[in-house]
Amino acid sequence: MIQVMKSAVPPAVLLTEGAAETLRNCQAYDASPADYHVPAKGKKFTFDNEIYGHEDVKAQLIRDQHEKCCFCEGSFLAHGFGDVEHFRPKAGFKQKAKNKLSKPGYYWLAYEWSNLFFSCQICNQQFKKNLFPLVPGATRAINHHSVPKEESVADTLLVNPALDDPEQHIGFRQEVPFGKTDKGEESINVFGLNREKLNEARRKHLKEIEKTAIVAEIPIEELSGEKVAAIQEVLGGVSLQELKSIIEEAKAFIANAAKPSALFAGMTRSDFSHLPRQ
Ligand SMILES: [Zn+2]
Repeated sequence: MIQVMKSAVPPAVLLTEGAAETLRNCQAYDASPADYHVPAKGKKFTFDNEIYGHEDVKAQLIRDQHEKCCFCEGSFLAHGFGDVEHFRPKAGFKQKAKNKLSKPGYYWLAYEWSNLFFSCQICNQQFKKNLFPLVPGATRAINHHSVPKEESVADTLLVNPALDDPEQHIGFRQEVPFGKTDKGEESINVFGLNREKLNEARRKHLKEIEKTAIVAEIPIEELSGEKVAAIQEVLGGVSLQELKSIIEEAKAFIANAAKPSALFAGMTRSDFSHLPRQ
């Protein structure tokens, strides 16, 4: 995970249709609050995914997140659609996975730009789901009258991709993440950041960086005939010109590997702390 810099101006649909839906749900709650706090058979809010999942919202999140999942930093658009994810769950929440779902959820934040991210379906649907743990003893916001309307960053036990600096909470040993803080530890578990398939993908990327770094360090200006011949023996019949462009590409890849747009930049920053981040 790295920090997501979200656009300051929310997509217009959230401010118009989203705000109207929020008002409707808040009024419905105020008409009979107790009915919404009944665990199983109570009243339910309705949410319009055509608003929070509107193509403008998706497009802006995808752009702000450099086409990566806000949690695992995987690039998944080639394999799936991805989800507009509510950081604070809209319909109900759990402090722990074994708990029953508590209701209502954060219905007043369902169309709130600061509560929306884009995530891969595995992080969202198989791992995070409705989990939203708070630090033990913290007071949870229970309805739209709560002040503040959401818990502080210090009171939440999950790394907020936009408000926290994930690198302060999650580090990596090679491709494997570890918690630097309780919040980091909990986030790794809740988002499933230590799952085997993800570690495999990060391991592959790490190897690619290590190999490319070797090529990037070949000094182009010192390429003598003898050196070129030795390299050509390994790479096959590449010309000197081709060899130069391979090295240039390798340099560019390494120079960009820890920037926000790079795949798994959080891991790369942790493992190769000297690489430029911007
Ligand atoms: Zn993900």
